[in-house]
Amino acid sequence: MASQTPESALIRPRNLLGKSPEELRAFLESLGEPAYRGAQIYHALYAERRFDFASMTNLPAKLRERLAREAAIELPRIIRKHCSDDGTVRYVLALEASKDSAANDSEANDRLLPPATIETVFMPEENRQTICISTQAGCAVDCHFCLTATLGLIRNLTAGEIIGQVLVALEDNRSALKPQTNVVLMGQGEPLLNFEPVVASIRILLDPNGMNVSPKHVTLSTSGIVPGIERLAREKVRPKLAISLNASSNEQRNEIMPINRKYPLEALLDACRRYPLRPWEHLTFEYVLLGGFNDSNDDARRVVKLLANLRTKVNLIPWNPGDLPYAKPDPARIEAFRKILADKGMRVFVRYSRGQDVMAACGQLALMEMGAATSSLTQISQ
Ligand code: SAH
Ligand code: SF4
Repeated sequence: MASQTPESALIRPRNLLGKSPEELRAFLESLGEPAYRGAQIYHALYAERRFDFASMTNLPAKLRERLAREAAIELPRIIRKHCSDDGTVRYVLALEASKDSAANDSEANDRLLPPATIETVFMPEENRQTICISTQAGCAVDCHFCLTATLGLIRNLTAGEIIGQVLVALEDNRSALKPQTNVVLMGQGEPLLNFEPVVASIRILLDPNGMNVSPKHVTLSTSGIVPGIERLAREKVRPKLAISLNASSNEQRNEIMPINRKYPLEALLDACRRYPLRPWEHLTFEYVLLGGFNDSNDDARRVVKLLANLRTKVNLIPWNPGDLPYAKPDPARIEAFRKILADKGMRVFVRYSRGQDVMAACGQLALMEMGAATSSLTQISQ
């Protein structure tokens, strides 16, 4: 048959996952079909979570067959699942090679992204589930306390691979889903260094005709990429924003987050002050407490000063261990630090990360289940 020729064997099916309603309409038109069929596919994919053309019964049978031949819906593939005692599940997902959809020149557009492995964390709670997704495989930002940094940047994720993590986690827990879904872009990677695919996936997530998640329930966390914050400020559809502060002075921040040399605290906090908050919104500042490094009373007082005049919430995150030269903070220090902020009228919470026994906690996502890593897993669960 003609489809068996070597040339056509090279043509991969077109993955529809992550495409906007406009792109799907244009794609259907390019097949000589009415554009509204694209909107129907969009609805089936994200509102109904149907991942197989045969089940999209609102499409004519002929079109379903044609799409099965000429297109594809490729979700990230679960290759491993680590279930924590606290109900948290860490997924290890395989990503196929795919086109670099963020590239805007046609040559780069044809560049193939290599296959990669990423992690996604599912956290069930009483009335909701929180899904923590990755935006890059690895990360180039090199924060010294974070295990993901040890991977370096492997590659950017496409919009389909980002939204696909939410779909896979929901699908795998379909029978036990709670009414509310929260999504946090806090897995591997720096979201604002993969801007277009991240924003494209957020549009689908927040779209009432798409996944219909409330913007109040989606949080993007950044290490402080100032141009990215400024760009996000101009987006019509936005999630909530969290900033990883993690230090109380430039000197201290330079030591653990080299990105601070490029975007120092003054520039970062300036961008935060200019960020247009909606009436219900505040900026979240994350502060990883590193024992004996950034957890003194003086640090707490400096944080109060830095964040004055900003509408904020502060999350104190006791450092989660990995094979890195830092220490967990002393419980008495955590409380003293929290109290200094609270006494100044700040909204401050201590966030103990979930899933530590399966390396699913903040900063632990570095595919530790393989090879030598088994020993650290054992250490941590002891
Ligand atoms: N790259 C983004 C989002 C992913 S990291 C960012 O840095 O904001 C998500 C959060 O985990 C960040 O606030 C980061 O500071 C924190 N984190 C990294 N390593 C950690 C560790 N070992 N223990 C606790 N939190 C950590
Ligand atoms: Fe990257 Fe965030 Fe880890 Fe820093 S803390 S290395 S930005 S993932």
